[in-house]
Amino acid sequence: MLRAFQLLNGITGRITTRLVVIVSISILITATLGYVKLYEVTATNSAVRIDRAARAATALFAEQLNNEFVEIHAPDGAPLALRLKADTADVSLSFRTQHDALLKDIGQINQGAANLFKFNPHTRAFDRFATTFRKPDGSMPPPMSIKAGHPAYEDLNNNRPHLGEVPVMGRMRLAYLTPIQTSLGAVAGALAVDVGWVDDLIAARDELRTQVTIAAGLVLVLVAALGACFMSTELKPLRVLAKLADDLVAAGPSGTVPYMERNDEVGALAQGLDRVVTLQGKLAQLAYSDDLTGLSNRCRHLNELEAALRESHSGAGKWTLAHLDIDNFKQINDAYGQTTGDDLLKLAAAQIKDVFGPDVLAARLTSDHFVVLIGGDNSASRACALTEKLLDGWRQPHQLPAGEIHITGSAGIVLLHQDAEDADQANRNAELALRKAKASGGDQAVFFTSDLNDAFQEQIQMERLLRSAIEAREIEIYFQPQINPTSRALTGLEVLARWTHPNEGPISPARFIPVAEASGQIVELGTLILDLACEQAAKWRRMQFEFKHISVNVSPIQLWQSNFVGLVKETLARHGLSGHDLCIEITESVFVDHSEHRIAAVLSAIRALGVSLSLDDFGSGYSSLGYLNRLPFDQLKIDRSFVSDADTDYRKQRVLRGVLELGRGLGFNLVVEGTETLEEVKVATSTGCDSVQGFYFARPAPALLIPELVNRIARTRPAPKAIPA
Ligand code: C2E
Ligand code: CA
Ligand code: CA
Repeated sequence: MLRAFQLLNGITGRITTRLVVIVSISILITATLGYVKLYEVTATNSAVRIDRAARAATALFAEQLNNEFVEIHAPDGAPLALRLKADTADVSLSFRTQHDALLKDIGQINQGAANLFKFNPHTRAFDRFATTFRKPDGSMPPPMSIKAGHPAYEDLNNNRPHLGEVPVMGRMRLAYLTPIQTSLGAVAGALAVDVGWVDDLIAARDELRTQVTIAAGLVLVLVAALGACFMSTELKPLRVLAKLADDLVAAGPSGTVPYMERNDEVGALAQGLDRVVTLQGKLAQLAYSDDLTGLSNRCRHLNELEAALRESHSGAGKWTLAHLDIDNFKQINDAYGQTTGDDLLKLAAAQIKDVFGPDVLAARLTSDHFVVLIGGDNSASRACALTEKLLDGWRQPHQLPAGEIHITGSAGIVLLHQDAEDADQANRNAELALRKAKASGGDQAVFFTSDLNDAFQEQIQMERLLRSAIEAREIEIYFQPQINPTSRALTGLEVLARWTHPNEGPISPARFIPVAEASGQIVELGTLILDLACEQAAKWRRMQFEFKHISVNVSPIQLWQSNFVGLVKETLARHGLSGHDLCIEITESVFVDHSEHRIAAVLSAIRALGVSLSLDDFGSGYSSLGYLNRLPFDQLKIDRSFVSDADTDYRKQRVLRGVLELGRGLGFNLVVEGTETLEEVKVATSTGCDSVQGFYFARPAPALLIPELVNRIARTRPAPKAIPA
């Protein structure tokens, strides 16, 4: 029904309607012309026949009863009246066998009926007194009169002949009624004749009219039905092409365009649509794929992810999402340049296709951040196995024009049916797992769990607080003296960041520095701290407080900023300091993922400013002794783990001694960190360090307290005696 309505509403409907209108008009014109002609012919024939019948009747009447009647007619011969010759109305106009025979003759000649009427002046009606009609049983029909209201009455009453349709025996028939007059010309009666054939002719005409109407109706229905049918068949290709165009808009190009081989308008349309499909395909390629790697881009990834989520939630399938990322890619990019970075990304993407299969739903979201959707009932275990395989592949040396590059990667994996409501959450949770993998040292895959989310929320909160703290310069710096344990002279001051939140209270740098590093705020924060530290150093210089140098901790992320050396130079200059007033502490993690060449270049540039370099937390990670020998460090800060309890743990003591000897052998200035007790200070001293930094001498303190603190250290305590080895 709906389809029929749609058809009627469309081209089929409109053309069929027009066809029906045109055919109707044609039929109407033809039928009207035919009917009018027939009507004319019928009318003419009827008039001629009835006229002849009337003439014949009056003539016969006047002839047979010529002693009683005389015929009056118009110049053309049409009967006007029959007039009594004498005053014999009573006899002449009452039933006689003679009348009956006469009427019978007239009837036979005319092949119709004939009637005689006598006018009754009292009732003013024409009463029939003779007729050719008989009942089926042969007896006379009931009496009948022409009274006022009868179509012929008016004419007869006015003494005129009447030609027209009159009711006869229950139906209308064409009749000619000739008035019969007295000898003086007054109305006395009437002679009525009709012609059966005329009647038949009229009946046939009417029947023809009915048949023409029915036939026209049938032709119309047929034309409409066939028209609609043919039209619908002819238009089917258009509907198919329209649907294809519709699908093209909704879901992008799919399949081939039909009817292209046709040589008509439909063929032309199909070929045009095919060109659109091809173009659309190219556009989709441009719009949905990543130029560099050929994988999908974020846009297509989101579409695919939405679909995977729908399947996962409806139970139609289980999908797993993995976020993959090359560890420290930025450094590789910085170190080797963008071209090598791009080459590496292409290799990494190729490995994704290799491992997950050529039809993998994989995308690159940002520089080295890839995502993969893994489907199937066992998608979780497959995701796990394949991700491990991929990370293993990434671990293998990569041969690039720039040389052999070693990378590792991390992955965060989330089960969509279980841990993701929508695309946003899916990506966020996978990213959380990825961050967790990174925070745990990278080179691993981590599955999302809900506690990651809690940690993440906390981190987000922390990031927010930290951002406003940096903006409001709420971050302060404390200083912790480094003391020569023998002379107890000040050998340096380490700058340590302090943050006291108005509501949360003091927040340890061990908490907020990693957050700042993860969110990138470390660059801004580091710049602020360097500025505050130099500002204070300049004040002390002006006060002539002798502190040797201040040691500022610098995160690797800061160090690899392209403008870092410039920033140091500019800050020193702004505060009127020389490079020798500053030492930069860098942890061993700076060596990870960077070529020695690149590290040496940056460190040398810093050294060129006169700034000294200290390798922080030495021994806590895995240090390459090769680096130590070749890179321009001035100082080693021996990690607290070497000295804590070294006074009682002799193995530890020996290790400490060994490390210090090694450092001294390489010509480094040696600082032992975290000396909390006198015993630890003694151990450190006996093993031959240059300075100690720890709670025993001083906790980190605000700048204001430092000169006094340093004086007190120098004054009060005797130099601890070295513990003999
Ligand atoms: P770090 O560079 O190894 O700094 C030394 C840390 O050891 C400081 O902790 C200091 O308070 C603590 N310490 C000093 N003496 C002792 C001791 O005798 N016993 C013990 N248990 N600890 C001692 P803090 O200030 O909490 O800083 C923690 C870490 O936060 C620093 O370790 C450093 O890695 C980072 N950090 C602090 N300030 C900054 C900064 O301005 N920039 C950057 N990039 N990192 C910073
Ligand atoms: Ca430090
Ligand atoms: Ca340290």
